[in-house]
Amino acid sequence: MLVKVLKLFLHIVLILLLTAITQVGGLLYLCCLLIFRKKGKYKYLYFAGIYLFFTFLVVPWLAPLNGRERIENSDTIRPCNYFYVLANRNYVSPQMNETLQTVSHQLNLTYPGLELVYLDANFPFFDGFPLPPHLSHSDGKKIDINFIYQKEGTLSNKKPSLSGYGVYEAPKSNEWDQPSHCEEKGHWQYSFPQFLTFGTWNEELQFADAATKDLLNTMLRHPNTQKVFIEPHLKQRLRLEHKRLRYHGCQAVRHDDHIHLQVH
Ligand SMILES: [Zn+2]
Repeated sequence: MLVKVLKLFLHIVLILLLTAITQVGGLLYLCCLLIFRKKGKYKYLYFAGIYLFFTFLVVPWLAPLNGRERIENSDTIRPCNYFYVLANRNYVSPQMNETLQTVSHQLNLTYPGLELVYLDANFPFFDGFPLPPHLSHSDGKKIDINFIYQKEGTLSNKKPSLSGYGVYEAPKSNEWDQPSHCEEKGHWQYSFPQFLTFGTWNEELQFADAATKDLLNTMLRHPNTQKVFIEPHLKQRLRLEHKRLRYHGCQAVRHDDHIHLQVH
């Protein structure tokens, strides 16, 4: 009896986790549990196959009914790692897709070979369904994008952490220190993404000021752009001033490891 209760509890936890991480995974797992309940351990294998089938063939076909589409990867735009694609975290509105394509092409014209590298976007279905841990990524109109880095003066497509989050371009001693200010006010979550790197690598990379500034300006100029978030000290360092370049507030997480872009 106790084993049965424990098993049920674990299944529920897994359904919730898969829903939080991939949106459709929880429902698919539940269906597999019901349909293949007599198949023993093989049901997990069936689940893996069905999940991949849905992720690559069914969801991309259904998402446009909800006004979302997969980000079109190309020579100029790609995810930071394949997890974002595998977990269905790469869906955006058509306006966002168009904006990303235009911005990445313009970036590539200025810096041949340089890629626009994205992180979490949105799930494929249901407006108002957030993409944890980003509460605002719930309508297809938001995406996180990596900064540009360089190695020994040469621009690189590499990023300093596996997830693309959590390695900060922190305030220098002469710059306004918003993260400390927010933490002193009790916003403990502000630097939380430092625990979400899933490993740091390419430690020799340095923040590329000029190229990141060009990327930000290209985004800010695009008519579809509604808001861009970066940390105040980077705005100051890059000498950027634009009505669409905003500060997100202490209740969010810090934005000196990535750019947040929002379109109309
Ligand atoms: Zn974001």
